[in-house]
Amino acid sequence: MADAPASLNPAQLEAVHHLRGPCLVLAGAGSGKTRVITHKIARLLQAGLAPKQIAAITFTNKAAQEMRERAKGLVGPKAAKDLVISTFHSLGVRLLREDGQRVGLKEQFSILDSDDVLGVLRDAGSCSDNALARRWQWTISLWKNQGLDSEAALRAAKDADEQVAARVMKLYEERLAAYQAVDFDDLIGLPLKLLQRDEEARAKWQERFGHVLVDEYQDTNAVQYELLKALVSHPDDRRRGLFTAVGDDDQSIYGWRGATIDNLKRLPEDWPTLKVIPLEQNYRSTGHILRAANNVIAGNPKLFEKKLWSEFGDGDPVRLVECDGEEHEAERAVAFIQGLRGQGGALADGRQGGQTKFSDFAVLYRANHQSRVLEQKLRAAQIPYKVSGGTSFFDRAEIKDLCAWLRLLVNQDDDPAFLRAVTTPKRGIGHQTLGKLGEFSGKWKVSLFEALFSESLAAQLGPKAIGSLHEFGRYVNELEHRARHTQGSEDAKALLLEWLKDIGYEQHLYDSEDSEKLAASRWSNVMDFIDWIAKRCGGEITQEGGNFESERQTVLQVAQTISVIISLAERGDEQDVVTLSTLHASKGLEWPHVVLAGVNEGLLPFKSDAEEMTPQRLEEERRLMYVGITRARSTLMVSTLRRRKKGRETVAGIPSRFIAEMKLNEAGANEDPRERLKRLRAELATKAAGVAEQQAAHRGR
Ligand code: ATP
Ligand code: MG
Repeated sequence: MADAPASLNPAQLEAVHHLRGPCLVLAGAGSGKTRVITHKIARLLQAGLAPKQIAAITFTNKAAQEMRERAKGLVGPKAAKDLVISTFHSLGVRLLREDGQRVGLKEQFSILDSDDVLGVLRDAGSCSDNALARRWQWTISLWKNQGLDSEAALRAAKDADEQVAARVMKLYEERLAAYQAVDFDDLIGLPLKLLQRDEEARAKWQERFGHVLVDEYQDTNAVQYELLKALVSHPDDRRRGLFTAVGDDDQSIYGWRGATIDNLKRLPEDWPTLKVIPLEQNYRSTGHILRAANNVIAGNPKLFEKKLWSEFGDGDPVRLVECDGEEHEAERAVAFIQGLRGQGGALADGRQGGQTKFSDFAVLYRANHQSRVLEQKLRAAQIPYKVSGGTSFFDRAEIKDLCAWLRLLVNQDDDPAFLRAVTTPKRGIGHQTLGKLGEFSGKWKVSLFEALFSESLAAQLGPKAIGSLHEFGRYVNELEHRARHTQGSEDAKALLLEWLKDIGYEQHLYDSEDSEKLAASRWSNVMDFIDWIAKRCGGEITQEGGNFESERQTVLQVAQTISVIISLAERGDEQDVVTLSTLHASKGLEWPHVVLAGVNEGLLPFKSDAEEMTPQRLEEERRLMYVGITRARSTLMVSTLRRRKKGRETVAGIPSRFIAEMKLNEAGANEDPRERLKRLRAELATKAAGVAEQQAAHRGR
């Protein structure tokens, strides 16, 4: 949809023109909050800020990319290129890259992903139970998101389990420091520490950003809010706060990950001059859809009272479909897509939709595993699709292998990366050798890489083992040197291909996979990955991962940011494909036609056998349902299963309570007052016409 500057309503305009103090836009789904942000960027440029002084923070890399595209349409490609549009995490990397040394990081640090973290925790806590290590990981992350370190966590620990977790956290902190590595939570926590403790750095960054805009503000966590505060509160004038936050408490769906609605409540307290602007007109959905959404969310206690109305007509009623099981459901979804796609033309509400494309459809569900059957049926029907919010490209074994190598180039003290790289592909360095190396590095408190060249190690190992270790070490050094000096896509690609050849990676895939087909598909992932890095080195991909740079980068620079870039699926090639997505990953997006799949008790609201359903959890699940419904512009199909798979069993399916809450049969009863007025007027007009006709007929007799 074109974003002409004029297309804002008075409330949106007010938010866009409020430049001199903190501003909060608090409004329901589809009311144009994100649009306020893009237009405000344009306004700020007009008011004299340079593009690089404007920071807009989005929830995902994909959203960052979309926002940049929109901004481009408004302010032109040149200005759009220099805007800082990124996630909190990418912004954190930016700060640490420039000033990480001020908080004890060396220039080249590595960023551990979730699997690495798990490995470090298992090791630190001498634990072979993955489930337990995952619980630690979870608990530690929640603590970090509340701004606690291991000491504070130990004091706050509620029971023996938490005490153990806090002790493991201490060991974990020590290891990360030794590896010169940070985890994702540190990407927020360390920049905050930097800004809080280092006056010079704080002044510099506050000066750097003239205005900070935050989308999806309801899903920020405590540390992110502190970071925002540190970025925008000027010490000379605490209340100034040049920022704009937009959000919707009814769409807060990341409480389980530490996001807190307190951030919304605190804003007016922390910023007495805060301008709060509600938006009430919904520009996304037709009447039936909007009413169903409003009915569902009415079941939650209200933090802020909100009204939402739409000028579009009622449109198509919400389609409720009962299915026998998952396969049947997937077939119905396919039929829904094929049926509407055939139609083409305008949307149900009369808005011009053009020919209906595959990309006009999304199928949304609560849990990742639900995509499998849907994918099968879509493939069988030859419907192209993409899965978002699912397993990330970077979770694939082959990509993680290569990432370990790249991380080792970036930071030779990254021991987890060292261990993976030195054994993938195998190069005759066995467990015994590595065990000795590990002992040595532990004893002398040096990294594995540093230990490798030590002369006293040579005395403990045979000449063959030492020879292999040295060869590996020299190779890594040489590769690092070349990666540091290679930029531009062609040169980068040549270097990367040479590296793969040197280490025999393709052969390794064919040796380790049973089927050739599988090996070939993994190799093709590797090639995609190489192409993608090469493009970044040429400055051709600028948006995702927080668009650190749009100029050419060296291979080493690109390697450093890889862990932050969540998924290659977010590459952003606009393709005509159906979207399959978890409800969580669908936030902020919209499609003309949406299917909500598996709307059953147990699935949505989600409930595992182990967990109790607390009122808070139920409310968060209800917000998810609200998010799901409000993604649809024109047609919404809600499907429920009579029988559903649960593990290996098939159990009876109970329709979700949220279906009843949509009150689909009582649409009239909950009609928007404006709609009702319109309808009554129309009815009156028809009646009047009827009476006139009768009278005319009477007279004519
Ligand atoms: P969500 O809560 O789901 O993130 P949102 O409040 O951010 O929604 P937007 O995505 O900004 O809403 O807008 C929803 C739709 O309405 C978009 O298609 C947008 O282009 C359109 N829209 C927003 N404001 C206007 C307006 N004033 N006039 C016409 N269309 C608008
Ligand atoms: Mg939005």
